[in-house]
Amino acid sequence: MARPTRARVDLAAIRHNYAHAKAQAPGARALAVVKADAYGHGAVAVARALAPVADAFAVACTEEALELREAGITKPIVLLEGVFEPSELAHLDSARLTPVAHNREQLDWLCRARPTRPFQVWLKMDTGMHRLGMEPADFAAAHARLADCSHVSEIVLMTHLACADEPEHPATRAQLACFTAHAGGLPGPRSIANSAAVLGCPAAHGDWLRPGIMLYGATPFGEAHPSAAALRPTMQLQSQLISVRALDPGEAIGYGGRYVCQAPTRVGVVAAGYADGYPRHAKDGTPAAVNGKPSRVIGRVSMDMLTVDLTDQPDARPGDPVQLWGDAVPANDVAAASDTIAYQLFTGLSRRVPVSYRDDS
Ligand SMILES: *Cc1c(COP(=O)(O)O)cnc(C)c1O
Repeated sequence: MARPTRARVDLAAIRHNYAHAKAQAPGARALAVVKADAYGHGAVAVARALAPVADAFAVACTEEALELREAGITKPIVLLEGVFEPSELAHLDSARLTPVAHNREQLDWLCRARPTRPFQVWLKMDTGMHRLGMEPADFAAAHARLADCSHVSEIVLMTHLACADEPEHPATRAQLACFTAHAGGLPGPRSIANSAAVLGCPAAHGDWLRPGIMLYGATPFGEAHPSAAALRPTMQLQSQLISVRALDPGEAIGYGGRYVCQAPTRVGVVAAGYADGYPRHAKDGTPAAVNGKPSRVIGRVSMDMLTVDLTDQPDARPGDPVQLWGDAVPANDVAAASDTIAYQLFTGLSRRVPVSYRDDS
């Protein structure tokens, strides 16, 4: 039980980041998006830490919602893709879940439901992302159908932005205009903003924010953005050096010999690899921290190990701590060097990595 690779999750930082989301839009409420096991941070632990402050939670499916209910979470839970089949309607009722309705089939199922108590529905419009949502031209009729159902207590009007992570992107303006044009006269709260729009697009704030990645301390933007600067990292992926060796110029490291030493090089082997969720596509130069000092990946990442450059750290030796992402190594930087996004790093953390929690409140 001594493999040193571990993830540490800072629950107080997640609460801080949730408060930061709400501070962007005073008066708006916010769904804390905890789908995909709270982006790899552990949905139950995160939801318990947020429950005292969160207005509501959002997940991808009934299975994720029931896990939270079984853990004692009583706040509303929105199913961001609604139900996948009518058999789930019984859970909506018994577990008090809040469905999205994004297509005609779901609308039919929800209208035919006979729950023991009324439920809220989040009616989604496709304003241009072309993934989920009613056609704008059909939206008012869909709204009228739901409004006619005595078992539908409230209808939240929602849409999802495709390009909010590029703050000046013209698609966002077009999507907002489409939403206003086709939902403008309808009653009900509005929900448009993912993290990128929470931080970068006040016009999209509406009544219900939907922050996800920002809760986990990663910026949704490709570049530095002033309103993302206050986010606190929430996950540290840590390991240790398990071997250190000195190589001569011309010697190669690891599978495929991808990295060839140009000069005398000290190489550290770290006990973490792609089977832990570290990206196999990390390029030479991907940042890491050894003993709190900057280092970089050199050579291809293997299943259980990766290699880092210790040439600047002549005293580094086996047992020394390595941070792969966290407060010293932004997950966004690791992601950028691996042609992916922090979302994928966090959600890809594997079961093999034990997660521990701290909560300094
Ligand atoms: C996942 C999701 C979000 C959160 O997105 P982030 O980019 O992580 O903030 C918001 N809305 C919907 C509909 C989602 O599916």
